[in-house]
Amino acid sequence: MAGAILTRLPRIFGKMMERMRHCSVFPRETACHALIIQCPFGKMDAFPRVRRGSGKTEGQPVREIRKSKKLADVCYDIRGPVLEKARQMEEEGHKIIKLNIGNLAVFGFDAPDEIVHDMIINMSNASGYTDSKGLFAPRKAIVHYTQEKKVPGVSIEDVYLGNGVSELIVMSVNALLNTGDEVLVPTPDYPLWTAAVSLSGGKPVHYACDEKADWFPDIADIKKKITANTKAIVVINPNNPTGALYPVELLQQIVDLARQHQLIVFADEIYDKVLYDGETHTSIASLADDVLFITFNGLSKNYRACGYRAGWMVVSGEKKHARDYIEGLNMLTSMRLCANAPGQYAIQTALGGYQSINDLVGVGGRLLRQRDLAYKLLTDIPGVTCVKPKSALYMFPRLDPMMYPIADDQEFAYELLAEERVLIVQGSGFNCPDTSHFRVVFLPNSDDLTDAIGRIARFLEGYRKRNGMA
Ligand code: PLP
Repeated sequence: MAGAILTRLPRIFGKMMERMRHCSVFPRETACHALIIQCPFGKMDAFPRVRRGSGKTEGQPVREIRKSKKLADVCYDIRGPVLEKARQMEEEGHKIIKLNIGNLAVFGFDAPDEIVHDMIINMSNASGYTDSKGLFAPRKAIVHYTQEKKVPGVSIEDVYLGNGVSELIVMSVNALLNTGDEVLVPTPDYPLWTAAVSLSGGKPVHYACDEKADWFPDIADIKKKITANTKAIVVINPNNPTGALYPVELLQQIVDLARQHQLIVFADEIYDKVLYDGETHTSIASLADDVLFITFNGLSKNYRACGYRAGWMVVSGEKKHARDYIEGLNMLTSMRLCANAPGQYAIQTALGGYQSINDLVGVGGRLLRQRDLAYKLLTDIPGVTCVKPKSALYMFPRLDPMMYPIADDQEFAYELLAEERVLIVQGSGFNCPDTSHFRVVFLPNSDDLTDAIGRIARFLEGYRKRNGMA
């Protein structure tokens, strides 16, 4: 009996498919390519494949669909073509060691349990849109945080929640810039800043951060680059990619320039708790109330919750003359309706109570140990120097150009990937003007980090030999 049914199954199944094909729930043209049914006889197309039309209307050439010209100067190489190559290699079965992005969770740095728990218990309240600037409680907690950081005059209306700092960076420059307006952006930079300014029609003007001076911003260079069109200056402190942490005196000099030239200060402080060697962070917005500051922060790094997409920006200082700009910010905030609500529920818990990041960066902490290990291993390689990071999650080493005559640093990154299966980001990905730098994260555990940097060392040895520098 069972045998008879089995032999008839293909016919029964075929009839079923034939019926479905004529059923209106599955419009023939649309469903045909997609529906693959797993049946006892292996994979089987539910419908015969129907060839679609060529898309050509008789006699008309097919129009190519191209990206907008607004993207011509936009570049984000942290997830650029080298990563694409790494993806292909993974598909071919290669195991790649990824030192390219500061995504903490994939290296076993989990978000604190209390945050996860509170987000879960609030899930049932999180299905509606919230106020466009965000829920009251997390914004209030952020107001308190600005008070801790001594930023004057922040009320709840000055706090905007976003889907990560990334969204707010794009919004804040879009609300400000007209075509040709200039924004001072550091080099090296976190490249989203340069990209966002370009995308908004503005012109990023890079000011130098000086490797010989611990990667601090070069005030003389900033002065030289201010023009009548300069609208704002971006200060990334603690810094990605260099790991620099700026002293108060330096921040004060930037504030003085901003005051003198009426510039907005965009302060990206997303790593303000990832500090080593007992260092402390000063929020630049705490240094004046007569300059307009937009300060950015979030849960991605300090709380190891990149995926929650929970970030915020705070408007402080000289707001009276910025009413129109603030109206623009409110407009863009409303247009995207709200930040994701589950992520908003994580913020109050994160900012209050026990700060487990201190265990990771303090003596014996995993991040501190890995920073020290990566620094030693990298600087032991002939011709490699590095300013030891005081903060954040990255190293930005320099390759002596005499020993490593690199013409194209993206090509260098490709070669390292192909030979040693290690993915880094080349310095030009951070708008660095030379070809002698690259960035690594020191997030893998000590064994993996030792393996990864060992591979970099082996690759560089080969590079020296090939160039007669061994
Ligand atoms: N700003 C800096 C300096 C960063 O390094 C990053 C991410 O790496 C961001 C902003 C983006 O943060 P978010 O995850 O909140 O979008």
